[in-house]
Amino acid sequence: MRQLAYCDYNAGAPLRPQAEAAWLEAAREGGNPSSIHGAGRLAHARLENAREILAKGLNARAADIVFASGATEAAHLALEGAWAAGVRRLAISAIEHECVFAFARALDPACAILPVNQAGVLDLDAVRGFAKLQDKPFLLAVMLANNETGAIQPVAEAAAIVHGAGGLLLCDACQGIGRMPATFTQLDADYLLVSGHKLGGAPGAGVLAMACGAPFSPPRHGGGQERGRRPGTENVPAIAALAAAFSASQAQWESERARLGALRDGAEAALRAMRPDLVVFAQASERLANTLCFALPRLRAETALIMLDMAGVRISSGAACSSGKVQASRALMAMGVAQERAGEALRISFGWASTAQDVEIFLAAMAPIAARAPHFMEAS
Ligand code: PLP
Repeated sequence: MRQLAYCDYNAGAPLRPQAEAAWLEAAREGGNPSSIHGAGRLAHARLENAREILAKGLNARAADIVFASGATEAAHLALEGAWAAGVRRLAISAIEHECVFAFARALDPACAILPVNQAGVLDLDAVRGFAKLQDKPFLLAVMLANNETGAIQPVAEAAAIVHGAGGLLLCDACQGIGRMPATFTQLDADYLLVSGHKLGGAPGAGVLAMACGAPFSPPRHGGGQERGRRPGTENVPAIAALAAAFSASQAQWESERARLGALRDGAEAALRAMRPDLVVFAQASERLANTLCFALPRLRAETALIMLDMAGVRISSGAACSSGKVQASRALMAMGVAQERAGEALRISFGWASTAQDVEIFLAAMAPIAARAPHFMEAS
């Protein structure tokens, strides 16, 4: 039987066994957490238990945790809720995920886009310059780690600048949580986003954590769930799975960082041996240990993706969240990468079930593609 290698954890991690068990138990039991009968009370207890787990791990209060359907919805809630509560200017780093990038610009057409350096790290001088000029309530969105390059961002430093000027900070922590030490208080964010399926939970659950007193006027109205901040029946099975995956990733992040870092570094070294002209993006930054974003000059990303997929190897090019569209990555372009090179960018990302065998399968599939790459250009 052909062996498959899944190397695309930054797009979505497979369900962890603990999350699967938690999901199944909650789904089998059913019940609406707003119902007052026994089944409702059981679902409610499960929901509140998940909230406690998230609050404890993030060093937040349980009351600060709002469950949503994913990080995209959590981002929209935070931005819209802050805007409705009086925030009048938004700023975002140039490398934010589309769910923050596009929505912030829709909400505030004058939204400032702050640059990153060539290593893919937010320019703190630009943050200072922006913050100094603001005379209206403002909010800056900075992600914890970039989903494409893995570059870790100076979130706490940006928060100190922003807070010093009376502003607010939103941190999309989807890729960093569970992979590096990061709590709500360490990052000093006013709003923090977490996504269940990035951690090995089921799709359909995410978290918006809000600091006590962070401005928020609920942008949606309905049944009053989540203390009136996010209406709609909570997806208890996915939330239970999120909590289980979050616990597992929090407990193992340090050993996993070492293990996955070794897999990633091994893959990088082997690629360089195949092709000494290997380009590694964001190499000069502190990166997530699980992520490698690279290009083999003259090998188009879509060509590589299709050939690897045929060989059973699942990796990504640019931002996977652009729904299967392969286009030059905005994050790489913001780092000053030329359009052609950005169109060659591939990303491998590892996670809880990754093994050395996945790397071997990936490298075995990659070797003939890498060797033939120049011909693809000549033929086209
Ligand atoms: N933020 C980052 C950094 C991501 O990588 C993603 C998904 O790729 C999201 C937000 C969106 O998360 P969700 O799928 O939970 O809406």
